[in-house]
Amino acid sequence: MRIDVVSIFPDYLAALDLSLIGKARQDGLLDVRVHDLRDHTHDRHRTVDDTPYGGGAGMVMKPQPWAEALGHVVAQGDPSTKPRLVVPGPGGQPFTQALARELAREPWLAFACGRYEGIDERVYEHAREDLGLEVSVVSLGDYVLNGGEVAVLAIVEAVGRLVPGVIGNAESLVEESHEDGLLEYPIYTKPRTWNGRDVPEVLLSGNHGAIAAWRHEQRLARTAARRPDLLHASHGDGDIEITAAT
Ligand code: SAM
Repeated sequence: MRIDVVSIFPDYLAALDLSLIGKARQDGLLDVRVHDLRDHTHDRHRTVDDTPYGGGAGMVMKPQPWAEALGHVVAQGDPSTKPRLVVPGPGGQPFTQALARELAREPWLAFACGRYEGIDERVYEHAREDLGLEVSVVSLGDYVLNGGEVAVLAIVEAVGRLVPGVIGNAESLVEESHEDGLLEYPIYTKPRTWNGRDVPEVLLSGNHGAIAAWRHEQRLARTAARRPDLLHASHGDGDIEITAAT
């Protein structure tokens, strides 16, 4: 998968050199390219922002550097393919595991990191109408960050780990929180007793059916306790009996 990121703080994306995403880049599974928006300015101060029309606090990112930067990214690809443009923003669609899976199927993603009050609205229109890109505004959650870079790190990590080959054991992806609408069950490792606390007996029983049943019950209980909205969304309000809350 190819990933382009445009930002005024390219160094922010250095974390994409680390850990599994960094290894996936080294292995050629992810082709990540980071671009400095200021390289597409033409004044002495490399200006990317200006005051908002209509008044109000803060600054707005100017359309011209963005149009040039996105044109530059698109021009670097094969003429027959175009990236899907993801613009992080608190007013976007919520980023979920389902959206991560959808994005992981794209061969090419481009990310536009906003700063200040965000990007001039005409840039979105230009990307859709003139560059012919599919544009998705994506929110990390109902809070406000200072810029899109942190959101891009989160989205690239969640999407990148779903690209085949990036995680060695693909099975570990299937059992995780949010894959089927439930949170993961509690997990334990050695030693069997630690700090006066025992691992639940059933996990030592070798009885795979009992372990699976216990884990399912724990997933339901944990989801009911921490995220009842998920339980109702994925399993209806009907006949689920919650036996414990963790
Ligand atoms: N004025 C904007 C609003 O009220 O919707 C907020 C702008 S915010 C200070 C600056 C940038 O941070 C945004 O353009 C976006 O790139 C990023 N950002 C902030 N909150 C975000 C969130 N919850 N999810 C994704 N990106 C976010």
